[in-house]
Parts: sequence; C-alpha cells; structure tokens
Amino acid sequence: MDLLKERIIQDGKCYQGGILKVDSFINHQMDPNLMMELAKEFVKLFSDLNINKIITIEASGIAPAILVGYIMQLPVVFIKKKQPKTMENMLTSVVHSFTKDRDYTVCISSDFLTEKDHVLFIDDFLANGNASMGVIDLCKQAGSKIEAMGFIIEKAFQNGGKTLRANGIRYEALATVKSLDNCKIVLE
Ligand code: 5GP
Repeated sequence: MDLLKERIIQDGKCYQGGILKVDSFINHQMDPNLMMELAKEFVKLFSDLNINKIITIEASGIAPAILVGYIMQLPVVFIKKKQPKTMENMLTSVVHSFTKDRDYTVCISSDFLTEKDHVLFIDDFLANGNASMGVIDLCKQAGSKIEAMGFIIEKAFQNGGKTLRANGIRYEALATVKSLDNCKIVLE
C-alpha cells in the first residue's frame, strides 16, 4: 500500500536488532486518517471471507482492528496481556515478545471466542509470528476458525510469514520490510 510505504520511509526509524520504530504514526502517536485508510485496505483484501468477528491483541492492534470492525459492522475482541481477576472462562497461552524479549501469558474469555466464530485477526507487526501462534492456540482452544490474518507491517527477514504459511494460515501485510540492515529501511 503506497500511502503506508511512503509514511514508513518518511517517518519510520530503525533500531538495533531489527526493530522498526513507527511510534509517530502507529505505535504511540496515531494518525487516524492513515489508520482508516489501512482499515479500508484490510476490508478490501478480505472482502471474499465469511467472518463474524475481528480479534486483535493489545495494545497496538486495537486501533486498526476497531476501525475494520466498524467498517464491517462486526464485533472486535482484544486478547489481553494481563489476566484480570474478574475474567470468566479464561483461555490462556504463553507468547514470547520479540521487542521485550520475554515470555508473557495472554488471555481471552471463551464467552467472546467460541466454536461459532470465524475470525479475522488484525495486528500491527508480523515478526517471528509468536503472537500469531498464541492467537492460533487460543482459537484452537475455543474451537473457533481463523479465516485470515492481516498485519500493517510484515518484516520479511524474520520467520513469521514462513510459520503462518506452514500452518496454512492466509495472511496479508499492507507493507513488507525486506531489510533493516545497517539501519536502512528497505521495503518490498
Ligand atoms: P511476533 O510475535 O510476530 O514475533 O512480533 C509481533 C509483535 O511484536 C507485534 O505485535 C509488535 O507489537 C511487536 N513487534 C515486532 N517487531 C516489531 C518492530 O520492528 N517494531 C515494533 N514497533 N513492534 C514490533
């Protein structure tokens, strides 16, 4: 998606360890006009699917997911990174965080993810696919079907894409980073 690629080149910053910082328009300060365009693009890409629910993971997936849900008029559920004492019928999975380099337990209530659900998962980044594998695990526990996954940015030099393809998951990314070598952003 050209609009996104231009913005990444203009405002993205490269950090040691293959991290792309986009916190001036996606991860901290957010550009709602860009976010809406991203959501419209996701809706277009997945228009052939029969889905009844959008799922995402906090925090940075929530903004694009809720806009996709708004356009498609579908409910949006976010997977939580902290387990609330009050959550009923909790399903959990352990995920390794690429940016924080630690494991954490994510959770969702099976009240909101059931065997009746055909879901579209939306997130900001696909890196090694650890968050996505956690989502696959939670959906398996709930008996719901993942119809597709949509990421704002895929880093193709990491293994997430390969992992998702190996698991038979259809996914789309709106921009793909080929390399961040020598702190230079190279897009596909
Ligand atoms: P994965 O689970 O695919 O390894 O990593 C995806 C998650 O890690 C995303 O939800 C995102 O929050 C974070 N992440 C991975 N790589 C980057 C990156 O280069 N920049 C930023 N800002 N977040 C990233």
